[in-house]
Amino acid sequence: MLRSLGDGYAMPLIEALATPPSVSIRANTLKDRTVPDGAALVPWCDNGFYLPSRPLFAADPAWHQGLYYVQDASSMVYSHVVAMISRMLEPQAGHGLRYLDACAAPGGKSTAALEVLPADALVVANEYDRHRANILAENIAKSGAPNAVVTRGDAARFGRMRDAFDIVAVDAPCSGEGMMRKEPEAVRQWSEALVADCAATQRRLLESLWEALRPGGVLIYSTCTFNRLENEEQVDFLVGEYGAESIDLGLDSFGGVFRGFGTDSHCYRFAPGHVDGEGLFVAALRKPGEPTGSVQSQRCQAPCQKSGDFISRHLLDASGFVETRIAGTVYAQPAAHAAFIASVGKATDVMRPGVAVAAEKGRDLVPTQELALSAALDISSFACVEADYQTAMTYLRGESLQELPEGTPKGFVLLCYGGKPLGFAKNIGRRANNLYPDAMRLRLDPRNLPATPPNPLTQAK
Ligand code: SAM
Repeated sequence: MLRSLGDGYAMPLIEALATPPSVSIRANTLKDRTVPDGAALVPWCDNGFYLPSRPLFAADPAWHQGLYYVQDASSMVYSHVVAMISRMLEPQAGHGLRYLDACAAPGGKSTAALEVLPADALVVANEYDRHRANILAENIAKSGAPNAVVTRGDAARFGRMRDAFDIVAVDAPCSGEGMMRKEPEAVRQWSEALVADCAATQRRLLESLWEALRPGGVLIYSTCTFNRLENEEQVDFLVGEYGAESIDLGLDSFGGVFRGFGTDSHCYRFAPGHVDGEGLFVAALRKPGEPTGSVQSQRCQAPCQKSGDFISRHLLDASGFVETRIAGTVYAQPAAHAAFIASVGKATDVMRPGVAVAAEKGRDLVPTQELALSAALDISSFACVEADYQTAMTYLRGESLQELPEGTPKGFVLLCYGGKPLGFAKNIGRRANNLYPDAMRLRLDPRNLPATPPNPLTQAK
């Protein structure tokens, strides 16, 4: 199959498949992390860089704090593409952009989008698979972005929300040829029937999701596979059948990035052997027309509800949020998008309607891990205790903390590491109860811990 794409493309790629993949991370700019001096930058992502080797990420508190995301370098092109498209659309939108990531787990591209979209945008991150949707919700929470909701279900359901989104990203389920170097399972699963099956699913999703895109909006289509059927042919279908206008993203100005094969549409291919990253295909398509009045009228211009007392006390810019309580959990939603989030709930299942900031316990409200990691948290609203490395790891394993510094007030305390929030504990005097969620607890034998944290944010290639 690869040979049919031409020897100039195929031969370096085939050779590269026998070499190990690189390791790269994206520093989380929502949490103010800067890239270390001397880092080998990913050419198309200002905050992405390569590591010399793969550290034990689980042993690094900064990874648990969401200060960076481990992501294949090719996928980081989303940071560049979404920034470019949001610059194009923002002036004409007249409201916070609505971005749908239709196939979003584990969340690499959603979190990249959240970093570059304007702060008043809303990201709806959707995933079909229940287990993967949980991981997605966890990664969105770790990113700290206060303007994201997570939904679970077949992405085609969004077809019911006609003209609702300014940007729709379809990082489609695919035959995974571009991941074969990283995931041996992709080699075992591959067959021509799988390619045909994936192409049919992609077509079904694209046809529905095109309905959810507003006129003048942009659909980003990507896969991590090499064959034309799942790539250029899907783009050409949207151009031919729906009058989609393919956008010149100019990504081939980055060395080693190829344009699509056998198409007049603007398509881009990233492949091992040509770039330092895995296989990725990407294209952006504009829907013809201009935004209609009905789209505007769906927008909630003013806060629809009041922000609650807990939100007022603990969130920065609290007036920008409204409170909603569901099944004993208090959520903070961006006020300008609250009505829209309610309309998403009519189309599909909303797992996370905003940032879960507190859990009701009797008459008390217990602050959550999501609140600790949220970029919207007003850190000064809690007593903070700085932890050393061993204490941070003890906390992440879910053990109780024996000694907090003298003078630490009783009640909820924010444990910090490196000056950034790690999670909450409840100081009861002689010890502090650990509020780190059971499901997230680190199962790492303390005997296997390095003496100092791996800290890849300070490593360079
Ligand atoms: N965008 C993700 C990221 O960057 O982390 C990777 C997405 S992966 C290529 C495709 C995802 O689509 C998988 O998690 C898969 O479970 C999900 N998926 C498959 N069928 C789907 C459907 N009908 N609706 C929504 N998601 C679906």
